Amino acid sequence: MSSATAIEVAVVGAGAAGVGVALALQRAGVDSVVVLERRRIGESFRHWPREMQFITPSFPGNAFGQIDLNAIHPQSSPALFLGREHPRGKEYARYLERVVEQFRLPVREGEEVLRVQVSPGAFDLTTSGGSRRARFLVWAAGEFQYPRRPSFPGASFGRHNSRVTTWERVKGEPVVVIGGFESGIDAAWHLSRLGRRVVVLDPTAPWRKQKEDDPSLTLSPYTWDRLRRLRRQGSAARETKVQFLAEAVTGIEETSGGYTVKTARRAIRTPTRPILATGFSGSLERIRELWDWDRESGLPRLDGATDESTRTPGLFLCGPGVRHRTADGLAVFCFVYKFRMRFAVVAATIARRLGRDPSRMLAEYAAANMIWDDGHSCRSPA
Ligand SMILES: Cc1cc2nc3c(=O)[nH]c(=O)nc-3n(C[C@H](O)[C@H](O)[C@H](O)COP(=O)(O)OP(=O)(O)OC[C@H]3O[C@@H](n4cnc5c(N)ncnc54)[C@H](O)[C@@H]3O)c2cc1C
Repeated sequence: MSSATAIEVAVVGAGAAGVGVALALQRAGVDSVVVLERRRIGESFRHWPREMQFITPSFPGNAFGQIDLNAIHPQSSPALFLGREHPRGKEYARYLERVVEQFRLPVREGEEVLRVQVSPGAFDLTTSGGSRRARFLVWAAGEFQYPRRPSFPGASFGRHNSRVTTWERVKGEPVVVIGGFESGIDAAWHLSRLGRRVVVLDPTAPWRKQKEDDPSLTLSPYTWDRLRRLRRQGSAARETKVQFLAEAVTGIEETSGGYTVKTARRAIRTPTRPILATGFSGSLERIRELWDWDRESGLPRLDGATDESTRTPGLFLCGPGVRHRTADGLAVFCFVYKFRMRFAVVAATIARRLGRDPSRMLAEYAAANMIWDDGHSCRSPA
């Protein structure tokens, strides 16, 4: 492979975002697209802990104009394909593979993008397979494979939840889970079902009902259900199997026979590595110099109308890292049903610049309610 094989658009990553935006590009008449995937289609989903399921439900409402919340294309539904309301990670990867097959999407598995250089009118990519040149670059490399480690002393003794293959392998109790948002509660739920005592620590106490109305900022209804069941189970057994503490961890120490997790108020001894459910730093660090960064929020600056980097024309971001300030707050696109609403926007921008007419694609995505523009609200009704 050499730079002679120039393409119009390179998409980095074949997760939900990369596959989804590539389909919109294809539909917009951009036929010279390649999706570069370091391992396999849906790789991040393949690494979810075995027990973990989607919290957003899948339901095949497409025919009546209500697209399955977890679908990445107006004519597909994970619920129909998998027969599941809350798919597991490996199942969702199979759904992505099926969509790639069905629409004959050119995905190059096993080709990792190692370096991106910008030259006039093109991006030069150094990949594990050689080099490629593309006129436009869509970055869809996600977050899951780039975990965030906290900065307190001894954090390296912790095990990030994205590195757990199955909760069955986490032995001994209590298990200390650091972080009480979706991943932390998911860990506590599965461990408790395996009969383990669990302590969840998070100074922001997401498990207390909060006023936020955006499921990216507060726990999902699926998780509230689980919390109610955990609390009922605790009171029935006259002991709380899962203890929730609104305290910040100040450090982890290795001690004989295990670890001690410290907060300002207590020291908790545990025989097993504490679980870090501390979120993700994301893949954008890899091409940090290609974005302007907002000092206050630490987020990359994107053109509000197109999701294009304000620093590097022709570079677009797709996926859960997209954020936009709107009149009524910050729109956070961290679920599939949210970030899929920017596929058509990115694809139409690129198609127009290449002289293609994206109107059929736009009409199709608009009919499926799969377009979000800044006229939308990011607030939910009460
Ligand atoms: C615990 C947890 C629960 C979640 N639950 C839900 C849910 O219920 N509903 C929902 O909608 N969302 C959920 N999400 C969020 C959702 O999983 C992610 O937003 C989604 O995976 C993002 O898709 P993506 O394509 O951007 O990233 P990914 O799925 O991570 O895909 C990125 C792809 O890029 C590849 N890649 C990375 N770097 C490179 C490189 N340099 N070169 C080439 N390829 C590369 C990776 O191998 C990967 O296949 C959850 C996330 C977590 C962590």
